[in-house]
Amino acid sequence: MRNLLAGLALMGLAAGPLTALAQDTKFAQLGQELPTPNTYRTASGAPGHQYWQQQADYNIKVELDDKNQSLTGSETITYTNNSPDVLSYLWVQLDQNIFEPNSMSNLTKTGELKDKMTLQAVEYLTREEFDGGFKISKVTDRGGKALQHTINNTMMRIDLPAPLKPNQSFTFNVDWKNNINNQKTLGGRSGYEYFPKDDNYLYEIAQWFPRMAVYDDVNGWQHKQFLGSGEFALPFGDYKVSITVPADHVVAGTGELQNASQVLSSTQQKRWAEAAKSEKPVVIVTQEEATNAEKTKATDKKTWVYTAKNVRDFAWASSRKFIWDAMNVNVGGKKVLAMSYYPKEANPLWGQYSTEAVGHTLRTYSKRTIDYPYPVAISVHGPVGGMEYPMLSFNGYRPEEDGTYTDRTKYGLISVIIHEVGHNFFPMIINSDERQWTWMDEGLNTFMQYLSEQEWERNYPSRRGEPKDIVEYMKSAKNTQVPIMTNSESVLQFGPNAYGKPATGLNILRETIMGRELFDYAFKEYATRWAFKHPMPADFFRTMEDASGVDLDWFWRGWFYTTDHTDIALTDVKWYTVDSQNPELVNAQRREQLNSEPKTLSQQRNLQDISKTLVERKPELKDFYNSYDPLATTAADQQRYQSFVKNLSAEQKKTLEAGLNFYEVGFRNEGGLVMPLVVKMTYEDGAEEVVNIPAEIWRYNNDEITKVFVTEKPVVSFALDPYLQTADTDLSDNSYPRQLAPSRFELYQQQRQQQPNPMQQQRSTSRTSGSGAGSSAQ
Ligand SMILES: [Zn+2]
Repeated sequence: MRNLLAGLALMGLAAGPLTALAQDTKFAQLGQELPTPNTYRTASGAPGHQYWQQQADYNIKVELDDKNQSLTGSETITYTNNSPDVLSYLWVQLDQNIFEPNSMSNLTKTGELKDKMTLQAVEYLTREEFDGGFKISKVTDRGGKALQHTINNTMMRIDLPAPLKPNQSFTFNVDWKNNINNQKTLGGRSGYEYFPKDDNYLYEIAQWFPRMAVYDDVNGWQHKQFLGSGEFALPFGDYKVSITVPADHVVAGTGELQNASQVLSSTQQKRWAEAAKSEKPVVIVTQEEATNAEKTKATDKKTWVYTAKNVRDFAWASSRKFIWDAMNVNVGGKKVLAMSYYPKEANPLWGQYSTEAVGHTLRTYSKRTIDYPYPVAISVHGPVGGMEYPMLSFNGYRPEEDGTYTDRTKYGLISVIIHEVGHNFFPMIINSDERQWTWMDEGLNTFMQYLSEQEWERNYPSRRGEPKDIVEYMKSAKNTQVPIMTNSESVLQFGPNAYGKPATGLNILRETIMGRELFDYAFKEYATRWAFKHPMPADFFRTMEDASGVDLDWFWRGWFYTTDHTDIALTDVKWYTVDSQNPELVNAQRREQLNSEPKTLSQQRNLQDISKTLVERKPELKDFYNSYDPLATTAADQQRYQSFVKNLSAEQKKTLEAGLNFYEVGFRNEGGLVMPLVVKMTYEDGAEEVVNIPAEIWRYNNDEITKVFVTEKPVVSFALDPYLQTADTDLSDNSYPRQLAPSRFELYQQQRQQQPNPMQQQRSTSRTSGSGAGSSAQ
């Protein structure tokens, strides 16, 4: 495309907004929506010079009862008040209380009955009440004196004997017991699974101890009740955790094992040391050893001691069923141990992929944020589909009993591991408030997951990230959507809203609005600024603009604060060429135009019906006008043209003779979101050109605009968003002339049959054909 020529005004083409309505609502700065910057959080989105955060250090002893699936624990919490405020009480989170029969979560579950109900749905309604929740037996100060405390659902207030002043610490103890939920029937972000075939349990333990709530400069105490969707807000601290389990269990935990010589055999210790040097997973507990352990039950106990520095939580897993492998991953010159714990039911899939996926995540995320700072990163397989904790995550997906699996299972597993291990960065390190904003960890993490998946293998089947994959959600009914900036517990369509939409928004920023270089720099800056701190949405919005120099308020406003969607129509195209004013040429063109006009139906019929007109019969009725040619060039015409040309400047003359094409293209914003215009022009000779026009083109009129394109070659078609960059929900009006998009409908029988997965199919074909050579899936 050529730039508009200086001489255009000459031809009456006005460039710019002279007549457009002044309307900048969608481009107004986010003045009122964002909090006023202060000394804790700056206007540039960085922590301010007086930024502070609280610290909670834990020393916990816990024992697992494998017979009754319960925990008995006691903890000492040292809470340090780094705020400038005096505190008269502390708030502690009792997340397990969500399992109490009369918890707010249980009481506020809505439901409906239908004429046809699944057995599981009825079983769920009639299930026996689970005796869940913390049974707190003791809350005392350091000296053992009872502390006044009040339990409000999932929160507990501890009244301090004396106000806690700035820079002071308070140490207290809590003792408790709680039953562990059967995750398979009761759900939850942790719990146990029972394996009836070998009569063993596998435990994934989280939210298992009373944890400090966050006190910060934005909310004061963040003690919004835990209802299940809004995850956690937690302060950083150092942990020492002693976990007592049956002696034949293998325990995985957040942090570093302190007493390997007491809990591991010398062979296992040797393998562990070998794994720490290996670039490939090394098995520390083999499948054979784990399967042997399943057959008996130890009566003695062992205590596994873990420590973790600067983490916001601690989770662990325990079972005699665990196979355990590990390998070394180099991150920024530092060694990190990537590890997996899984029962034999997870093989062969887990042995092949889990630890490699952990390592891949550490490398790809570190590159775009900060170097992974912890010594280990763990993936555990059990009943929980996918849940993240510092250094340790629970991941679902296991193969069929015969060891085969679908591609969905394979990629589902790799994706969930990338996702949950990725959560180490958002929110375990860049520690946002999950109870309030799901998108700040899930959205950012899903975006990073997408980038990471695409580095795993080419054309990796990512579920979320590509703009085209969010279209169905974006065009779903308005009353089923809420803005991304909605509290976690009130989010509708949780997955698309809190995971897919923010992730896609970041991808659109990176690919289309900011470009990769500016985006990547700003995103890394955000991660660096807020690592080991508590960022808020404004800190993210402001940093992304501050570090890139791109005003994104219009984008945050549309994508994060509304439920508008992208639907831009290319409404029409007007094509102009310059009138040369040369009478010879002009007359010839007009004659061609006249000749190409269609004959009307009457004209066509009259040619046949009227054999001779009157004038044809009586030629004496003809005069001058019967032979006059209005398109014949006269001497006077020629003379006028010569004098017009004589008065033109050289530049104007060039424009007149260049044979340029002028296209006025109309765009209408039908979805509400303003977006950049990516316009592809296809020329007569087949060549293509793509023009990227910033969203600011909508600033004078948010609804309807026209844009002029000037080209040397004639354009045969225009296409808007040809590479699916903007999540445009209706592509049928994105091209000119309109294109027909073929779709197919599927014919199917009423009853669909369960098909064997492709690995099983291949096995059975190779078996019947009698050649085992072609079968690689054994
Ligand atoms: Zn997540």
